[in-house]
Amino acid sequence: MARLSGKVALVTGAASGIGAAAARRLARDGASVLLTDRDLAGEEVAARIVADGGQAGFRLHDVTSHPDWAAAVEHAVSDFGRLDILVNNAGISGGRHELMDHSYDAWRQILSVNLDGVFLGLRHAGPRIAAAGGGSVINISSILGKVGLGGAAAYCASKGGVTLLTKAAALEWAPLGIRVNSVHPGFIDTPLVSNALAEREDGNEMRVALMAAHPVGRFGLPREIGDAIAFLASDEASFITGAELVVDGGYTAQ
Ligand code: NAP
Repeated sequence: MARLSGKVALVTGAASGIGAAAARRLARDGASVLLTDRDLAGEEVAARIVADGGQAGFRLHDVTSHPDWAAAVEHAVSDFGRLDILVNNAGISGGRHELMDHSYDAWRQILSVNLDGVFLGLRHAGPRIAAAGGGSVINISSILGKVGLGGAAAYCASKGGVTLLTKAAALEWAPLGIRVNSVHPGFIDTPLVSNALAEREDGNEMRVALMAAHPVGRFGLPREIGDAIAFLASDEASFITGAELVVDGGYTAQ
């Protein structure tokens, strides 16, 4: 039997990159998956999963919106009968900002999606996962939730926030049988990274330099993060909670 059969997962930001790869992997492991995103392209990702024999649906969902969260969680439960797994993945890079002239609006926007969105996910999905008798929450942080990067203060603050929000939730919810862990990808080949590099005049040089900063000499693939997420969702990770799973080709080992 597939390791997640009978389980129901909700994955945010699932139209693209890491979220789409995670949804595909969770479905391949037997979970029914509700993909959500603010981008309708998630519908196609869900349709492909179904065409490949998996169980999946899609719902438009802005993770900064309380009503959207309430509706997405209800949708997962009404379509699939329960909720066991939440992957808080939606996020934005927010672009490059020097602190000396960082606008407050840009700061708020990045914190709102990357950190408030994760809080809202815990707040709305937590009671449903508890009602199912426990489960697993995976929050996507970053290597930049562990080490800093110039020009990315708000992103680093948001991801550092996710790292410790995860540990606080893990402590509160251990008695409920809900494990809460964070995943910390290095640079992964997704639109989030390619668009950020495309905005820079020195984008090509930057790409080469960033790849060299990973001891394995390359960016990661979305699939490599999806695999880590599915592991944390499964019973193979039954004694793992409050942990930081770093998947970064050695970036933070230096
Ligand atoms: P991606 O390819 O840009 O996918 C992110 C998805 O989230 C997009 O479809 C995006 O829609 C959606 N999204 C953004 N804001 C949203 C909102 N408010 N509500 C709902 N959906 C929203 O990015 P990715 O690289 O897969 O990133 C996924 C997660 O991994 C993020 O949390 C990111 O910070 C984290 N991460 C990525 C890397 C990396 O190198 N790629 C490294 C470490 C951590 P739009 O296209 O409309 O924005």
